[in-house]
Amino acid sequence: MALVVQKYGGSSVADASCIKRVAQRIVTTKKAGNDVVVIVSAMGDTTDELLDLAEQVSPLPPGRELDMLLTSGERISMALLAMAIANLGHEARSFTGSQAGVITDSTHGKARIIDVTPSRIREALDLGHIAIVAGFQGVSQDTKDITTLGRGGSDTTAVALAAALRADVCEIYTDVDGVFTADPRIVPTARKIPRISYDEMMEMAACGAKILHLRCVEYARRFDLPIHVRSSFSTKEGTWVVSDPYTEGTEMEQPIISGVAHDRSEAKITVVGVPDKVGEAAAIFKTLADAEINIDMIVQNVSAAATGRTDISFTLPTADSSTALAALKKVQGAIGYESLLFDDQIGKVSLVGAGMRSHPGVTATFFAALADAGVNIEMISTSEIRISVIVEQDEVDAAVAAAHRAFDLDADQVEAVVYGGSGR
Ligand code: ADP
Ligand code: ASP
Ligand code: MG
Repeated sequence: MALVVQKYGGSSVADASCIKRVAQRIVTTKKAGNDVVVIVSAMGDTTDELLDLAEQVSPLPPGRELDMLLTSGERISMALLAMAIANLGHEARSFTGSQAGVITDSTHGKARIIDVTPSRIREALDLGHIAIVAGFQGVSQDTKDITTLGRGGSDTTAVALAAALRADVCEIYTDVDGVFTADPRIVPTARKIPRISYDEMMEMAACGAKILHLRCVEYARRFDLPIHVRSSFSTKEGTWVVSDPYTEGTEMEQPIISGVAHDRSEAKITVVGVPDKVGEAAAIFKTLADAEINIDMIVQNVSAAATGRTDISFTLPTADSSTALAALKKVQGAIGYESLLFDDQIGKVSLVGAGMRSHPGVTATFFAALADAGVNIEMISTSEIRISVIVEQDEVDAAVAAAHRAFDLDADQVEAVVYGGSGR
């Protein structure tokens, strides 16, 4: 008997009929002789709607209360799904993240899982029940408060539970047939990737491909747990995320570029007129670190000889920008910079591929494709297997399409189907 962990995203449980369809699918897996643990997200756009509601009562809601509010979304879907399964004559039990033993640190809104103690899930399985677990949430070890794992965090709940329960497979069910060479919502000619490495998938996720939560891929790599990303609306084989997808016998050659990712969730801050002396950059980034802000790209201009001052630009999640601006304003006197500029109309476009390690000319082809599409590059950053650029937000779609074409990623026949979801 196998232990199968399945995660269903918001679009897969968007309404009552979707929940009934998913319940059927779960029961079929159970009837095939497997133990089944299901992780479920909030229905449709519930999380976004709850966030909108919170904003209407407070511009900066306390993290503890926001987490309390947001976790209610997953409680609704887990209970409804358990009811739908019971209606099909099978025993299902729903559990909150806390009941399922998902223990986190106490950082509200982006808590990290520090331990998983799924004794109640084991008991349910031993009784022959299907266990349904609310994704995206846990309980803080220190404060005992309810936490959330960050947007898209149900994927991480699924992989963490699959690892703790030593599941045979972790299936992530969503509204597309797997991981594609680009987001099918903006590149209809994107191709499905049959197998991809943890490292490449991590870069794609970190660069905004929201098909999988970044931490979920990190977790899977740590435990060498294969993830099967597939659609809950079809029975097609999806994408396998594994440690070594290009071994002999899998007939897959390592591509130069695996995919193009994009991200519209970042903003850019420029600290203008920073005195060009030792320790200034350290002071700026210490201020941001103390405010718990994750910085992505950084560019420091050459200082103008006449003024002895320079500008430092960096990108960060737009959601953290008011906190960052407030923290920097407080230290303006001490650091002695002139002013701050803020731009949230930017987007990041990234090329990801382990094959670029051994292929010269990837950057040149990428930049030429952007130039031909009339897209201006504002910032650049690279890793061993990734090249990212910041462009104007309005130009993101054109930039992604141009890069996709330049590396011959377009499919001959359209295979990228988006079955549901609002893409929000
Ligand atoms: P779920 O609600 O199931 O968790 P998400 O909306 O979080 O679904 O993730 C699925 C979406 O990810 C797809 O609808 C698609 O628009 C988007 N996406 C972004 N990049 C990719 C990619 N490279 N391959 C497939 N989907 C992608
Ligand atoms: N419901 C949460 C969100 O929308 C978590 C998830 O879907 O993974 O971000
Ligand atoms: Mg998701």
